[in-house]
Amino acid sequence: MTRTPLRLTPVAIPPPAPNPKGMVQSAAGILLDWDGCVAHDDIPHVAGLAFLRRYADKIAIVSNSSTLWPSDIQEVLAGLGVVLPTERIVLAGHHALLLAAQRGLTTTVLGTPHMRALARQLGVRQVTMDPDLIVLLRDTRFTYSRLKFAINALASGARLIVANPDLTHPGPKGTLAPETGALLAALGACVPLDRISVEVLGKPYPHMFQTACGALGLQPSQVLMIGDNPLTDIEGARQLGIPALLVSPGSALGLEQLC
Ligand SMILES: [Mg+2]
Repeated sequence: MTRTPLRLTPVAIPPPAPNPKGMVQSAAGILLDWDGCVAHDDIPHVAGLAFLRRYADKIAIVSNSSTLWPSDIQEVLAGLGVVLPTERIVLAGHHALLLAAQRGLTTTVLGTPHMRALARQLGVRQVTMDPDLIVLLRDTRFTYSRLKFAINALASGARLIVANPDLTHPGPKGTLAPETGALLAALGACVPLDRISVEVLGKPYPHMFQTACGALGLQPSQVLMIGDNPLTDIEGARQLGIPALLVSPGSALGLEQLC
């Protein structure tokens, strides 16, 4: 059974808001994307850092990252003088592992050693043979043998939790970095994913938006989403009635205009 669509469908890019800075200032809370919005290669850019410093008190980071712990981003920000509690850093990989820990099933995590260490810390029951659950993160060491292992586990009845449906994200110097959704497509090329249990977290699905609103103690109608991806940041916000601003360096609206 598939609970969420496995592919994102194109959406119309919203028209520019007439008073974006006013929206930022009047919002009780701000849900802020990380990669491509305030940071590149996990380091905030100049405008991103200025924005974080100005509005830190009402910001929750909401990112589809599945290679970072919340504390990783917290430490980067702390080193730049921005204090954000880990509860207000909502990351897809972390939430996929939290869900796996709740399920309590024997689990194989397809992800980096860093994320498998987080799985251990969260109490995920990790096994290397015959798992009842596969957690798919952005596994930068994905190989033919891992693909073979995963598809045979799924064909034998294992469930699947996927951190996010993204195919790529912006890499350094204008390059593309394959994302978790690309690995999901590889699994889907081998086994019929519509016939097994697949749960996809991450934007644009509601779970992380709702978690971030909860961390801020606010309702969706009280917050503003800011991100650089119309398919995930903007469309996901729209589905929950959260007003949203599309920003990216070099486009009509950048964070430097919102500080
Ligand atoms: Mg982004």
